[in-house]
Amino acid sequence: MGTAPSALGALNLMMRVFTDFDGPIMDVSERYYQVYQYCLSQASEPDQLIRVLPKAEFWRLKRAQVPERQIGQISGLHDDQARYFAQLRRETVHSRDYLHHDRILPGAIAALETMQTMQYDLVVVTMRRQQSLYPVIEQYDLGRFFGPDARYCLPDDYVKDQDVIEKTRLMAKAIAQLPPASTMWMIGDTEADIAAARAHDLPVVAVLSGIRDRDRLAAYGPDLIVNNLTEAVNAIQRATPCPPSRPFLG
Ligand SMILES: [Mg+2]
Repeated sequence: MGTAPSALGALNLMMRVFTDFDGPIMDVSERYYQVYQYCLSQASEPDQLIRVLPKAEFWRLKRAQVPERQIGQISGLHDDQARYFAQLRRETVHSRDYLHHDRILPGAIAALETMQTMQYDLVVVTMRRQQSLYPVIEQYDLGRFFGPDARYCLPDDYVKDQDVIEKTRLMAKAIAQLPPASTMWMIGDTEADIAAARAHDLPVVAVLSGIRDRDRLAAYGPDLIVNNLTEAVNAIQRATPCPPSRPFLG
């Protein structure tokens, strides 16, 4: 007796991949570096000797999760200045003025296309606010991967709690609202992504193309650590060799 497609539909063999935006898809390092330089100039005295870190050194510190104040101190700021530097940086880094420094990561589009070919249900879960997500989705034509119902971000006027808490909350909302899936994965680049996945019992692949280095990611215990989105997709494919959304009908 053959299995009718409608019966297969009823089995709900949907494979869903949640992905973070910044880190797996977008490179925010230049934005963060520009904001660092701006805040350093604002927090220091005009005649003060400060050391503007080269971008590679700055980004290495960010990826090692060195606190902002400490980065200010390493750059030559006094304690009070470093405190102000950290506060100003927090207020500035997500402002629209700096978003144009972001770049899509090499290979990210191709990796998304691969998942689409595999008929994975793609959902983006990000701490970006709607006003800083939607224009970028438009700019890079990412709407073909993430329709309006597959975008989980923060409302523009939302006062954010810690990322670990917010991301877990946002994942809960996504899981509650989206149609059920038989298999779900999470891809992300920070402890917030790993915590959110763990809270909902999802396997999680951490990528090194974002704002945490291998040591930091390993400390948070993802299922896998890979270099980028392409490798994450390969890992997910290997773990689920037969795409559940396209069962072999014989
Ligand atoms: Mg991220």
